[in-house]
Amino acid sequence: MNTPCAETPLKLLIVDDDEGDRKHILRLVKRSDLSCDCTEARTMDEALTISEQVRFDCVIVDYHLPGQSGLDGLATLLRRDAFLPVVVTTGKGSERLASEAIKRGAMEYVCKSDLTAGTIQPVLEGVIEQAGLNRLVAEQQTALTVFARVLVHDLKAPLQSVLGFAKLIEAFLAKPDLDKEKLLSLANRISAGAFRMNTLIDSLHAYTEADVRPRMERLTLGKVLDDVLADLHETIRASGARVSYQGLPELDADSAQLGQLFQNLIANSIKYCKVETPEISIRAQWQDGGVWRIEVHDNGIGIPKEQSKTIFEPFRRLHSQGEYEGTGLGLATCKKIVGQHGGTIWCQSEVGRGTSFFLTLPAAGKPRNTAITSH
Ligand code: ADP
Repeated sequence: MNTPCAETPLKLLIVDDDEGDRKHILRLVKRSDLSCDCTEARTMDEALTISEQVRFDCVIVDYHLPGQSGLDGLATLLRRDAFLPVVVTTGKGSERLASEAIKRGAMEYVCKSDLTAGTIQPVLEGVIEQAGLNRLVAEQQTALTVFARVLVHDLKAPLQSVLGFAKLIEAFLAKPDLDKEKLLSLANRISAGAFRMNTLIDSLHAYTEADVRPRMERLTLGKVLDDVLADLHETIRASGARVSYQGLPELDADSAQLGQLFQNLIANSIKYCKVETPEISIRAQWQDGGVWRIEVHDNGIGIPKEQSKTIFEPFRRLHSQGEYEGTGLGLATCKKIVGQHGGTIWCQSEVGRGTSFFLTLPAAGKPRNTAITSH
């Protein structure tokens, strides 16, 4: 969102050919509680030149401007930044014209005579907040479109191979001499494709479940891990991994989501490991500000530094299916879950030497801050 934080002054551009009106608006802004860094422009051309160098948080434009018409200039401004909040000021009786400006992308119009120290602040705050929300929604829509595209691609790949092998089986069955071994190998490949689709659907389910508001309860992290290890029993046995933890704290958290989080991290630590015995240790450290910092450390293959943030994006994988199987949704799910609990997640790693995933979770009894962020 583009809402500037309270301490940073808002960058406001006032475009009006009447000096008296510009100064009037400046005075109103000064008398309000807004902290603003104001720039004046007499014409739309001047405004367009200035805004090439400065990124404004809001623009107030007089509807009746000489030179380049206000509406054309508005269109140029909005082409540069589609979410720039623009307020159009009008004289009495020009409201119909001003509504034209709204159709062209201005967010609000006000009659100059209605502008007072009391009204200017809610108008500016309103459009800036609305513009921030519009920007956020557009970003989320873009992310969703990309997500859907990758998902369709990833689901189609195994489906195509299932269809392809099924067709081959049909062709083989039509032949007089049945090669049973060949048929069996084709059937196995169909199973592998179906298995992969199933895994992807399960990961997708876990990823979307992480959007559900957590059902908070007092729990012991050690107990959650006991259950996770029981679920991963077969993977741990087959890999010979050693997983250790002790002295883990009590937390207020959603036990199913927390289980999913640690299951993803531990399963990855086992999967992305080349040494004979994968070693995973989990510990918690008390931090200032009433949060626990939990570390999941492994002796696996490590992650290149430049990928340490991107791996939390959905479908971001560093390896082919041939090297390591996966869906690329595990860490994105972890990030969502930690964010839902008011914490952050990040990783530190050295290629060839292992990785530490760190996450913060608020201590039991502490109100959570649900902003989703990551380092
Ligand atoms: P995947 O299904 O591919 O495992 P994840 O979202 O869980 O998807 O992980 C994203 C990528 O991050 C993985 O493809 C892998 O390259 C890397 N990764 C995750 N965990 C580890 C780890 N413990 N050690 C090394 N690389 C890891």
